[in-house]
Parts: sequence; C-alpha cells; structure tokens
Amino acid sequence: SSAPAPIPATLFPGDGIGPEIAEAVKQVFQAAEVPIEWEEHYVGDQIDPRTQSFLTWESLESVRRNKVGLKGPMATPIGKGHRSLNLTLRKELNLYANVRPCYSLPGYKTRYDNVNLITIRENTEGEYSGLEHQVVRGVVESLKIITRQASLRVAEYAFHYAKTHGRERVSAIHKANIMQKTDGLFLKCCREVAEKYPEITYEEVVIDNCCMMLVKNPALFDVLVMPNLYGDIISDLCAGLVGGLGLTPSCNIGEGGIALAEAVHGSAPDIAGKNLANPTALLLSAVTMLRHLELYDKAERIQNAILTTIAEGKYRTADLGGSSSTTDFTKAICGHL
Ligand code: NAD
Repeated sequence: SSAPAPIPATLFPGDGIGPEIAEAVKQVFQAAEVPIEWEEHYVGDQIDPRTQSFLTWESLESVRRNKVGLKGPMATPIGKGHRSLNLTLRKELNLYANVRPCYSLPGYKTRYDNVNLITIRENTEGEYSGLEHQVVRGVVESLKIITRQASLRVAEYAFHYAKTHGRERVSAIHKANIMQKTDGLFLKCCREVAEKYPEITYEEVVIDNCCMMLVKNPALFDVLVMPNLYGDIISDLCAGLVGGLGLTPSCNIGEGGIALAEAVHGSAPDIAGKNLANPTALLLSAVTMLRHLELYDKAERIQNAILTTIAEGKYRTADLGGSSSTTDFTKAICGHL
C-alpha cells in the first residue's frame, strides 16, 4: 500500500532570524515524519504591481490554494509606494482573527505557573482601519470602524473555538461604557453569538479591569475575544505572563478556512544570522497549524518534545537563560521525537 499523499502548505521563512527558525521547523517536521510538503516563498526584492508590495502574487496564490501556511517574521522595508507586508497578507487573505494560545511552560519558571488562556483578536478593522486625517492645524482625527459583519465573524470564531477545544468560558473585552456605539455593537454581536452556545459561559469584562485581573491572577480567564487594538495590547501582555516573545505562537484565521500560523515576534535583527534565535515560538505556531489540519497526534508529539527539551534545561537558548545555539536546541528536540 502507498503512503497518503503529503499535504501541501505554504512556508514564508521571512526576514532576519526567519530563515534560521524556519529551518528548525523543517528539521523537526522531518524528524516527526509529518506528512507536509512545504511550498517555500521568499519576500521579493521588487514591488509586485499586482499586490503593490514585496510579496508576490504567486505567494498569495499559494496560501489561497493550500489554505494552510506558516509565516516567519517579516521586516517591512521603509519607503513609499508599497504596502506593509503584514498588512498585505491580512487584507489580501482576509485574515480576520488572530488566535494566540498562552500557557505556562512546565519547567520554565515565571511569576505565574497556572496560565492557560487564548486571546482572539479581531484583525481587520477597529482602530487599525488606517483612516486618520488632519481636521484643521493641531487637530487630527482617527476613525474606529466596527461592523456587525466583522464582529459576528470573530465572535463566531471564538465560540466555535471554545466549543471545539473543550473550553468553558468566553470573555468579551471592551470599553463600551465609554465607546458606546463601537464597542457597544461589538458586545451586541458577541451576545447574539453567545445565545447559540448555551454550554459556554459568556461574560463581559471592561478592558482596564481585565488588565488588572490578568496580572493579579491570569487563571481567571479562559478564552478572550476583543476588537483590534485591545487584542494587540492584551495578547502581548499575555505573552509576557508566560516568558516572552521567544515562546509565543499565533495563528491567523482567514475567509474560506485559511490558517496562516506565525510567531508573535519580529525579525530580531540584533541576533539574526548568529544561530542564537529561539525557534520555539515558530515551532509552536507550526503545531497550531497541525492542529488546524487535525494532525493531532503529530502536534502532540512535537509539542511534548519541545516542552520536554525546555523543561530539562540542558539545551536552552540565550533568551531563556541558556547558552545553546538554535541548531543544538533543535537537535535536542529532534532527539526527543
Ligand atoms: P523583535 O520581536 O524582532 O525583537 C524584539 C527583541 O526580542 C529583540 O531583542 C530580539 O532579539 C528578541 N527576540 C525576538 N524573537 C526572538 C527569538 N525567537 N529568539 C530570541 N530572541 C528573540 O521586535 P522589533 O525589534 O521591534 O522588530 C524588528 C523587525 O521585525 C521590524 O522590522 C518589525 O517591523 C518586524 N516585525 C515583524 C512582525 C511580523 O512579521 N509579524 C512582528 C513584529 C515585528
């Protein structure tokens, strides 16, 4: 009998430390015999007129076709006449939700050891709609757009996620006491969706109170869903609760079932090319991609190998207080497979 055909997935190694940590993912996947065939796409050095950015049309087509991909960090080139790489991806692929799991890593001590929450950020509108202008000298205006369509879509995703991942509670994070119309609409949409999921507890938490509760006792939360700006800030806060940028994965969910996983961190130019980067965040992002593909067995095995390596403490990269190179740490993970 022949083996099942490998699943094609798009890989953007990205810039800076991107290629080094993408290489780690490829090696770990090979060691775990994951049935994925990578279609690699690099960011171009010329603007593609079809995307108005350094991302080629072919690379976007690859994600649209495969519906799954993994993205390394991308440093946005400075200059006029092109769109930011991340913004291009978000808009062209309609990546409407950013999902960040945040849990304490056993064996890696931080102030908290009981964090296990998921932040889900609306990714297409809100304060990041890019509508800013000067009204008169000394007065500028920024438009925060909240639509029923985008709010329902992200709320639906959050409740569906909670239900399918054995989660019990969804908290909508807002400031509707002040932003009555915008955050008010966001909450209304969350409530509507909540009614369809009676088995999931629904609550609403004001953003400032949410911050206080998170740093006092992160175990109070399960799944959090929120508009764009709050999501940007709260998800970084949560990353800080469990040990920082080298560890935290994320996944972007797009229209038509697209999932584009990526590490939260950037291209880390200060350590690029030095074999120092921690590949954990990108590896765990790749694990979320495997779960999306329902390759649960491979996902568990790889996640366990990563966590065991970190917990043992023999091989750790510098950001976690160790002295291992990217490649030695990766070898140790492969050894646990
Ligand atoms: P950064 O995340 O690249 O780096 C911040 C600090 O964290 C640096 O000291 C870096 O060495 C460290 N760090 C980050 N990831 C690490 C890892 N895996 N292992 C060990 N240390 C790690 O943030 P920055 O310096 O503000 O941004 C650099 C570039 O990345 C910018 O061009 C920015 O636009 C881009 N960026 C891209 C994304 C993305 O593609 N999603 C996200 C954030 C920033």
